[in-house]
Amino acid sequence: MDVHANDTFVNFYAGAPPLNRLSFQRPKADVLNAHLERAKFLVFNEGKPLVHKGKISSPYFVDLAAVKPLVGEGFLAPSPNAPNEKAEESRRAGCILVFVGVDERGCPPGEDLNIPHGTPYFAIDATPAGTGLYAVKGDAEDLARQGRFEAPADSEWADARMSASLMDAWHAGLFAAARPIVDWNARNRHCPACGRHTYSLWGGWKRSCVTARGTPEERKLCFSNTGLHNFAHPRTDPVIIMGILDETGDRMLLGRNKSWPKGMYSCLAGFIEPGESFEEAVRREVLEEAGIVVGPVRYGSSQPWPYPANLMVGCFGRAAGGQSVRLDLDNELEDAQFFPRSVVARVATSKMGSKFTKNDYNQLDKAQDDRDVNAPAFIDPRPMDKFENFTKCPPETAIAGVLMRQWALGTHATHLVSSL
Ligand SMILES: [Zn+2]
Repeated sequence: MDVHANDTFVNFYAGAPPLNRLSFQRPKADVLNAHLERAKFLVFNEGKPLVHKGKISSPYFVDLAAVKPLVGEGFLAPSPNAPNEKAEESRRAGCILVFVGVDERGCPPGEDLNIPHGTPYFAIDATPAGTGLYAVKGDAEDLARQGRFEAPADSEWADARMSASLMDAWHAGLFAAARPIVDWNARNRHCPACGRHTYSLWGGWKRSCVTARGTPEERKLCFSNTGLHNFAHPRTDPVIIMGILDETGDRMLLGRNKSWPKGMYSCLAGFIEPGESFEEAVRREVLEEAGIVVGPVRYGSSQPWPYPANLMVGCFGRAAGGQSVRLDLDNELEDAQFFPRSVVARVATSKMGSKFTKNDYNQLDKAQDDRDVNAPAFIDPRPMDKFENFTKCPPETAIAGVLMRQWALGTHATHLVSSL
């Protein structure tokens, strides 16, 4: 039986179906090391996945022998003399190695949930020591990492975003779990509380300050060893993204950032801030970016977005009538307009409407990096009846593309839209 909720739209990257993550096995070094023996490894180099040469939609999985120089002893169990056994649970030295989960397609779990029957998957970082986005120059611990990974001759490193968007849904789900956690490990090598090094434990799902493994006196040196601090575990950052309809329900508010590929419009979006509900974040973002007051809001579906680790929260909303778009409040958008359903449907179904080149992806990545730094100057909104500049929209692999199609083409979510 398919246990996935059939009443919710499952977006790309959300897994179809997801792996069994077996998070309760993460602290057990012996169990993880047994998984390593029969695992498939998804390899990353500076965030780029290893794929089959000339076929970027196809991840190139390797076995333990191929990554042995990086894996070394695998995961370490607590030593009998460890001053703090918990701080030693499946500890690991060396490169980043993450137990992602077990693929149970075709082999459902047995009676003992501790003994999975499927194929274990690990993600491993093959970025050479001392290099990469987050390398700290001269960091002795980083440079001391042993081993190099030799990529097979029939493989290559692929642009992450372009490659993953072309993967089948299952591999995209695996990628979306693997890449963010490798990235999180790489960018959290120092303790947020005291600045000392961190180390990996729990199969790559936790990092602790080195003082956690010390004597009681040493543990007092860092407040991450006491109370609730939320430094040790990976995070995912929620982003609200919304299809806002006008009072008639026949037009949707879309905007474009100056840095996006020519002709591209999409749903408005923004980070949910501390202290906000989904609904409040929708209303604030739309007001700030387009000057439009939103009334009712309905949650639609969500999508993990692994660049680097966001959770997109897709909503529909209804704007109050008699309003005009204004862009001068936060100057984030170059343009925003209410587009008729027929125009959105035309772009969404046109052959080139969602085709993106490598250059387009680079532009989108850069636009994300430049947020707030490169805010466009205020530009007067164009008259409402000019739509010829709208020629591209996000593909269905992005939730914005899903929200636009669900509304414009009348697929899914019609009950949400009609109840606004
Ligand atoms: Zn610390």
